[in-house]
Amino acid sequence: MTDQVVAVTGAASGIGRATVELFAERGHKVVAVDVAKRGLDELAERDGVVSLVGDVAAEETNAELAALALRTFGRLDTVVLNAGIGGAGPLESPGSVERFDRILSVNVRGVVLGIRAALPALRASGGGSIVVTSSVSGLHGDPGTWAYNVSKAAVINLVRATAIDYAVENIRVNAIAPGGTATALTAGVIAHPTLGPAVTERIPQRRWADPREQAEVIWFLASPAASYVTGVTVPVDGGLTAN
Ligand code: NAD
Repeated sequence: MTDQVVAVTGAASGIGRATVELFAERGHKVVAVDVAKRGLDELAERDGVVSLVGDVAAEETNAELAALALRTFGRLDTVVLNAGIGGAGPLESPGSVERFDRILSVNVRGVVLGIRAALPALRASGGGSIVVTSSVSGLHGDPGTWAYNVSKAAVINLVRATAIDYAVENIRVNAIAPGGTATALTAGVIAHPTLGPAVTERIPQRRWADPREQAEVIWFLASPAASYVTGVTVPVDGGLTAN
């Protein structure tokens, strides 16, 4: 894969950041999008990386993501819709429904808007690849994270449905389902004296992923090596969902 133009959301940290770094290292052009400006500024100092500060739940952010790719690099080939948030607390707790709405806005609406905004640019490139970051939490239930589980399951079926709708236009839509990955999102769990080791114990490989291990699979799904792969969700989880 050479000379691709890639847009990555949730780019300032964790899996998104590792994805930007991996594509940039391999000579591609990247539009890095995040609500958090700080991490983005540092990424945008790299060759071939431009940044955009914005909320993926807003239509303007997604419209500008595609427009910025076209203005700066003249095309768009791959979109990695990775931004995500967790945590709603127990279903019966005060404010849980409002937090559920926000989780759906970022984790589901943000992906819908991202696909919608990218399609014309991907079509103009003669096709392309969309990769969504779901989660193993979309494949099974976890204690205490019902809202996150709902959002991550929703995008798995969104990927299937849109893969069917756009396959004939050479636009592939896939997802990764990361298991426990060492990022800002999970730092609290990893550092927790009992919860951290308990989660690690459930992973057949007995360790958490490095964000780079997720980025490598995103890379594969974006690349021509995956040219006949569409509508799938690939667990990248050290064997967790094999249990
Ligand atoms: P992270 O917190 O390190 O990075 C997430 C990034 O998304 C942050 O930079 C944050 O600012 C950005 N973001 C959040 N809301 C946004 C919004 N509305 N608009 C734009 N950017 C926004 O977390 P991570 O672990 O790298 O998570 C990346 C993705 O991977 C998420 O979708 C997450 O649900 C998923 N995931 C993570 C794990 C894990 O163990 N870390 C496991 C499964 C799935």
